[in-house]
Amino acid sequence: MSETFTSVPQEGAGLRDRERLSFDLDTDICVVGAGLAGLSIALEAARLGASVAVLEGRQVGWNASGNQLGTVMPGFALPLTDLIERIGFEDARELWMLSKEGAEFVRANATEENMPGIGPSDGVLEVSNIDAGDRLISRLQMLNEDFDTEVEGWQAERVRDVLKTDRYFHGVYYPKAFQVDGRKYVHGLAALARRAGARIFEDTPVVSIDHSGIRKRIVTPSARLRASHIVLAGNVHLGAPLKRLSETLLPVWRYAGITAPLGERLHEVIAFKGSVMDSDGIDHFRIVEGDRLLWESPETTWAASPERFAGAVRRRIRTIFPELGNVEITQMFGGATGQTVHGMPQIGQLRKGLWVVSGFGRQGMNTSAMAGQMIARSILWGDERWKLFSPFELVWAGGATGRVAGQLVGMWGRASSAATGSLARYRERARARDRDREARLAQANRAAGTGPRRPPPGVEPRPTSRLTPAAHDAEQAMEPVSHDAGVSR
Ligand SMILES: Cc1cc2nc3c(=O)[nH]c(=O)nc-3n(C[C@H](O)[C@H](O)[C@H](O)COP(=O)(O)OP(=O)(O)OC[C@H]3O[C@@H](n4cnc5c(N)ncnc54)[C@H](O)[C@@H]3O)c2cc1C
Repeated sequence: MSETFTSVPQEGAGLRDRERLSFDLDTDICVVGAGLAGLSIALEAARLGASVAVLEGRQVGWNASGNQLGTVMPGFALPLTDLIERIGFEDARELWMLSKEGAEFVRANATEENMPGIGPSDGVLEVSNIDAGDRLISRLQMLNEDFDTEVEGWQAERVRDVLKTDRYFHGVYYPKAFQVDGRKYVHGLAALARRAGARIFEDTPVVSIDHSGIRKRIVTPSARLRASHIVLAGNVHLGAPLKRLSETLLPVWRYAGITAPLGERLHEVIAFKGSVMDSDGIDHFRIVEGDRLLWESPETTWAASPERFAGAVRRRIRTIFPELGNVEITQMFGGATGQTVHGMPQIGQLRKGLWVVSGFGRQGMNTSAMAGQMIARSILWGDERWKLFSPFELVWAGGATGRVAGQLVGMWGRASSAATGSLARYRERARARDRDREARLAQANRAAGTGPRRPPPGVEPRPTSRLTPAAHDAEQAMEPVSHDAGVSR
């Protein structure tokens, strides 16, 4: 086999040439996509001794993975109560534990030694836009007692001590959640994977695959690969190799901005050091570089230039923290996340040797790490825990119509949440503080971790939903795909 290297300069990095695949190659595992998911698999599989080639159509982390905030939480984009309702308490607990393992994978890799400048720091605060502290009590108990996740309930006063806004009410503090420089992490992961022996080829789009035989064939514009396993980690851009698979994801573009240095006034308004996210998924922010604010907010279901949303980020900051006034936004960035219809990632084996790892939505740090570790172990050790994801089958996301509908649903959700928020603030001004509720909250906090284990909530799992006729058509068109897992018929 002859090898010819074609290199083009690495955009942005400048330090390393990009290697494009221009020779035929045989490997154990071929991973399509060098985002967080693909690189996590490559790293784990290479560490376990497999020969791995990652094929990336553009460059490492060019999409969401290299343009994200780096907040690492346990759990999934789908809220925990919905997860329990969908698959039952025991399986939900197992999935939650896996999601925590994903976070630990990130923590173990994202050290200053492995990734200089990655800057890990602890503590994430999830704040509520509405005054519904009663619901918080059962959530705290469930997380602490049943899901082994350390959390603290913060009363509204405590939240407002560290965040000078009347927009937020109570909060859930995750002392063991953490954040890293999200934009550096994906490149750090690529470096670790290379060091472990994985080969990463950029500017190498996969244009077709033949997954029928034991040795599968992968075609790129200038070379062919043969591999025993193909892992599709292309997220919403997968395209040609398995178009119908891409159509099971709703692309949602998310945008973030960084302000100019804001000086001491920033710390007077925001005294919390970690990441803050609101319970509706509208705002997500933290202080970076001493006195700048990193703020993620708007989202769209169409691709747009992030710069267009600088005004929206500025307005959002002013709305939440009026004392900061009109801040200057010096940089905007963003990327497309893949959202599934059911809100859970697509993780599993479509047919023997053909794996999918996608659809992490806005919580991809821990979940893609978990999926990467698990799928590598499935391939090499026969770990079968990925079958826990089987209830979350591939459901057609609706093509163009579904994408527009998705935007409308998202807008409706936000508008209704904003209205509820206003009402809550009005009520708050109009009545005396509910001391009884706060006392119960404090009591629940004290009891958490020490009290007897509660029996599982006893929510019956819902039967696995059937595909809609449109989804069924789409899935049929995705043949040949066996019912090995992850795809229901
Ligand atoms: C603004 C923003 C902030 C975020 N903040 C957080 C956060 O704080 N915490 C968190 O947990 N998550 C966050 N997320 C979500 C997280 O970034 C994503 O869930 C995650 O990056 C998805 O990773 P991925 O590898 O599945 O997809 P991608 O990053 O899209 O990577 C897929 C790669 O596959 C390549 N590819 C696709 N098709 C092909 C093909 N045919 N051939 C070759 N290559 C192909 C693409 O070019 C791409 O590079 C954020 C996202 C955004 C946009």
